[in-house]
Amino acid sequence: MTECSVCFRHCQIAEGRLGFCGGRIAREGRVEAFNYGRITSLALDPIEKKPLARFFPGSRILSVGSFGCNLRCPFCQNYEISWSEQAKRFAKTAETISPEALTELALATRDRGSIGLAFTYNEPLIGWEFVRDTARLAQAEGLKNVMVTNGTAELSVLEALRPWIDAMNIDLKGFTDRYYQKVLGGSRDQVLAFIEEAVKTCHVELTTLIVPGENDSEEEMRALSRWVSRLRQPDGEEVPLHISRFFPRFRMQDRGATKVDAVYRLAEIARENLRYVYTGNC
Ligand code: SF4
Repeated sequence: MTECSVCFRHCQIAEGRLGFCGGRIAREGRVEAFNYGRITSLALDPIEKKPLARFFPGSRILSVGSFGCNLRCPFCQNYEISWSEQAKRFAKTAETISPEALTELALATRDRGSIGLAFTYNEPLIGWEFVRDTARLAQAEGLKNVMVTNGTAELSVLEALRPWIDAMNIDLKGFTDRYYQKVLGGSRDQVLAFIEEAVKTCHVELTTLIVPGENDSEEEMRALSRWVSRLRQPDGEEVPLHISRFFPRFRMQDRGATKVDAVYRLAEIARENLRYVYTGNC
């Protein structure tokens, strides 16, 4: 067995087998990215769709995803490539692209308003080696690198990516250990530690998806926004928070979409503590 040290799960992986996330494999006594360079999605998106509201607004970014995820959010919007049966099929069918070829593609989108590359759609941290290798090349060509992540990784992974990433949107999915552990299969402590470190070196915005009956109390939003208000970006600015609306999807179909009024009300509460609060999917 070989241990993976990327996230709190610390999977013990038998030779030739995959870890819990489906993106890492044990080979010859070490654990490496099985999904290295294997892409399932590629699109030129507005930067606001990441979402990033205060990082090159109005620009676009070439967005790339692979397969696998280390969380188990039952409402995943990208379940086809994250942790469903379909996602497992991508382990066999995903196309491979080199960091050099992806950088070339990103350069070719510059004349369509693109500022660089976003590593998104599935969880990029489980394949962080590809992010590092590509982002390094992209940076050398003057491109920007963005990561859209659940923030579920050890700080050593963040440290390895730090020089190459210009901005991140990190999910802060709720503010209770119960929700992170029982509903998402995650670790709130690991995400909070990741966010605290990330804000010190690059532009960071956070996203909270409001799920009815799970994380939609005013009390929880008050506590979450108070915690966020203590963070500062490298330029001294506050961290923006995106509050977005849940829609029933994948394995969470037992409740309706979040009421728009509820999202607006929680945004108002967050504004008691924060300067930059945005609503999404409303
Ligand atoms: S990154 Fe994947 S393989 Fe590594 S510890 Fe986390 S879930 Fe397990």
